[in-house]
Amino acid sequence: MALLSLVRDPVPARTKIALHLHEPYRTWLGFGRLRCTWCGERWGTHGCTARESAVRLFLYTATKAQRAAALESGDISPADLRLRRSTPTRHRRRTRPSPSPTAPNPLAALVLELQGAAR
Ligand SMILES: [Zn+2]
Repeated sequence: MALLSLVRDPVPARTKIALHLHEPYRTWLGFGRLRCTWCGERWGTHGCTARESAVRLFLYTATKAQRAAALESGDISPADLRLRRSTPTRHRRRTRPSPSPTAPNPLAALVLELQGAAR
């Protein structure tokens, strides 16, 4: 019964850990560009790629209250909230190339010719 009444956190632990590990710092003694403390990647609008995917997963799994708490504590910026909707489809299926207008395989024509000769 105790297990049933336990509140289960829908957000994976690795997501919360990643949100805390990947934080920006300034290179060149605070004068350079922003980089990630954990992976050293350049810091974009949503941080490094690892943080961006962690934020996305957080927004997918977290409840409204968790999202509000993360916003308040600064784990997530208001700009990150927009991540959820504009998910770019990176691996779009390519359209099949149309059959080339060049002449068909000459070997195929030869085979047809040989078949015709055999008959
Ligand atoms: Zn990072």
